[in-house]
Amino acid sequence: MKIVVMKFGGTSVESPASIARTAEIVEGRRAGGLSPVVVVSAMAKVTDQLLAAAATAERGDRTGALAISSRLRNRHLDAVSALLKEQAVGTIHAWMEEQFQALDDLLRGLAAVQELTPRTMDLVASYGERLSSRMVGEFYAQCGLNGTHIDARTCIVTDAEHGKATPLEDKIERQLRFTVLPLVEQGQVPVLGGFIGATETGITTTLGRGGSDYTGALIGRGLNAHAIEIWTDVNGIMTTDPRVCPEALRVKTISFEEAAELAYFGAKVLHPATILPAVQKNIPVWVLNSKDPANHGTQITAIASHSRTPFKSIAIKRKLTIIDVVASRMLMTHGYLRAIFEVFDRHKCVVDMVSTSEVSVSLTVDSNERLPAIAADLSQLADVKYEGQKALICMVGENIRGQHGIAAQVFSAIRHVNVRMISQGASEINMSFMIEEEDVEEAVRSLHRHFFRDPDPEIFDVTARDALAGVSATSMKS
Ligand code: ADP
Ligand code: ASP
Ligand code: MG
Repeated sequence: MKIVVMKFGGTSVESPASIARTAEIVEGRRAGGLSPVVVVSAMAKVTDQLLAAAATAERGDRTGALAISSRLRNRHLDAVSALLKEQAVGTIHAWMEEQFQALDDLLRGLAAVQELTPRTMDLVASYGERLSSRMVGEFYAQCGLNGTHIDARTCIVTDAEHGKATPLEDKIERQLRFTVLPLVEQGQVPVLGGFIGATETGITTTLGRGGSDYTGALIGRGLNAHAIEIWTDVNGIMTTDPRVCPEALRVKTISFEEAAELAYFGAKVLHPATILPAVQKNIPVWVLNSKDPANHGTQITAIASHSRTPFKSIAIKRKLTIIDVVASRMLMTHGYLRAIFEVFDRHKCVVDMVSTSEVSVSLTVDSNERLPAIAADLSQLADVKYEGQKALICMVGENIRGQHGIAAQVFSAIRHVNVRMISQGASEINMSFMIEEEDVEEAVRSLHRHFFRDPDPEIFDVTARDALAGVSATSMKS
């Protein structure tokens, strides 16, 4: 039995038509002799709206919160009416009404106490995947795919770190073997919601935004899958975010290490934690387009293929802050850096980039509401300044190892841009630098023009670009 874990993201289940498309894709895998296990995200934008409802309730605006919930209820009920046959519509509508009643009770409670804990936030956010997975499971049952819904919270066991819980992999594996595997063996197609989990005592948790990819990889690892497929709304991992640079090309193959760097430094197409469970068992991961299933997508493999183009892709991470810690008094003091990092640790704040000089340390972090408190703690140690609206550009490729003159090419391609911090060397396969957020799109387009003007056709899909060039050449002739 060859299990394929197929994760469909928010845009792939955003409407009845897109859900119907996923069923055809799953059917195709079954016809190819594979046994699919399906993981779905919430319908597009639903998690954002649930979190907005919780925040609205926390401000005491009960009516506003319930209005958001009511729009979500209508969207889901309408999708069920469009997808399911009459008999099933009644059952699923009744179940959804119960879910929304429970959600509304929660929002009323939040509005009354005007306090929102991470634990409650997880509970509110979990409704998106709970609703979508049940709906998709019913639809797969109805259209002859043997779909069976499983509440992911019965399998994805995590710690209690709400908002970004850590999965307990051995327990997950045991649960998957107990609940999911027997169904697959019977020829059923289990459908689970991504992103959500529960503690050992049954308290709902989430794996962090974008976490459905991670669920897909955890299930792939736990079931020893033959492949993990991440179905999304673009043709795969591209040379950069196609929303920023429409000329971006599909990367045909990329290594685990390269993909992990890209994901960590902001390429939203994959959740940063996705890669590890797959690497541990050497399971190939594919990124594919549910709107164009015939496209070959990107294969993520253990070993990078050689490319004559130095970089594989450019990632962008926005909304960052630079913190400068200046301390002439502490110059060379032993334990000084540890004291600084302890402050970030205490506030559970992840540092992306660090650079030190004789008297100062600069660090970059995601802009967040804890910054004033972090700065206050740091000011016990030194003078502190912080500045937001920065963005990080991270250029990734195995082929930059040991290449001369790459940095000169990078910085000459963006010579008009003020670079605040540079990092090369922490990983041999990435070169990162920090600039003003307002300059980021132009800078990425300049870098893309420079480094991908003659892409290696073994690694990058140049057919779309060549087709365009062909069209313009013909129109010039005529
Ligand atoms: P899903 O809902 O399927 O999980 P996401 O919105 O999380 O999808 O991720 C897909 C989006 O990631 C794309 O629409 C694209 O704009 C963005 N993206 C950012 N960087 C890249 C990249 N290097 N390659 C492909 N997509 C990227
Ligand atoms: N629905 C969740 C989110 O929007 C998880 C995911 O889509 O991967 O973050
Ligand atoms: Mg995603």
